[in-house]
Amino acid sequence: MTKQIIVVGHKKPDNDSIAGAVIYADLKNKLEARAAEAAGREAEVEYVPCCLGPLPPESAWVLAENGFAEPRLISCATEVCPEDPKVVLVDHNELTQCVDGLADAEVVEIVDHHRIADVSTANPIQFINLPWGSTATIIAAMYRYYGVEITKEIAQVLLSAMLTDTVILSSPTTTDVDRKTVPELAEIAGVDYKEFGMGLFLKREGDGPVPIERLVGGDAKEFKVRDTTVLIGQFETVDLSRVLSREDEIRAYMDKLVEENGYEFVLFFATDIVAKGSQFFVQGNRAIVNEVFGIECTGEGGTWMPGVMSRKKQVAAPILAW
Ligand code: MN
Ligand code: MN
Repeated sequence: MTKQIIVVGHKKPDNDSIAGAVIYADLKNKLEARAAEAAGREAEVEYVPCCLGPLPPESAWVLAENGFAEPRLISCATEVCPEDPKVVLVDHNELTQCVDGLADAEVVEIVDHHRIADVSTANPIQFINLPWGSTATIIAAMYRYYGVEITKEIAQVLLSAMLTDTVILSSPTTTDVDRKTVPELAEIAGVDYKEFGMGLFLKREGDGPVPIERLVGGDAKEFKVRDTTVLIGQFETVDLSRVLSREDEIRAYMDKLVEENGYEFVLFFATDIVAKGSQFFVQGNRAIVNEVFGIECTGEGGTWMPGVMSRKKQVAAPILAW
């Protein structure tokens, strides 16, 4: 009987967490098959790609397009293999972002590209963390390291995650390794990466209006600033005018979030990936945001911030340093 091991990304999964789980499980299963064959035994473990929430539209599309099954939706770390729950984390190592029930399971491996946070283990494990633009970049390097073929299908899924995480190589989180890997994967995948990337962002937005909860809150994170809590949400778009035309609805929803959660402020910014900048909207106490960025946000129109693409580096960091 093979034992099943979970491979899973963070809560509120993005494309990197989905692609990372699916493709890293594929690599691990191939390595297990190789080891089993060399030892003349059957495979003893099976890596099962999982996820902690609904797939982003671009993930559902790229997996279907390339013949990969969607990861299994789980809510607890013990539900796949209750007698001996083991978990591989991809694209996170922060407890608040982890699958519930992790304390009752064993983390056996981590592949990530974030700050080292607070997941800890009893035993030494393989923990690969590199400050590259995406987890997918690291997984691509691991295929090469282990000499496992990157097929056209694998290349396309990895490329999609690299392009969404680095906003088509334009986010300041992009590294030279990403700039070198993207064209290599694009060649294997047989696509023009800029066109392919733009297509992914279009898929994410869909044809109709994005529901307000997903627009403002879909990728929103809470941060503690001094003795207050703030919410910073980002939406990446290829059509900023479509977002701007909904300003009244956006501000009303932000007011609701401020009221219900007692936030000092909510900062929502829509990032135009073509014009390479972001439009800021602030509800609640605007004075802090205005001071940090040297701007004059009001309750109307928002503020265009040229070159601002990354929440982590360009928005959250200066606010946290306030
Ligand atoms: Mn992620
Ligand atoms: Mn990532």
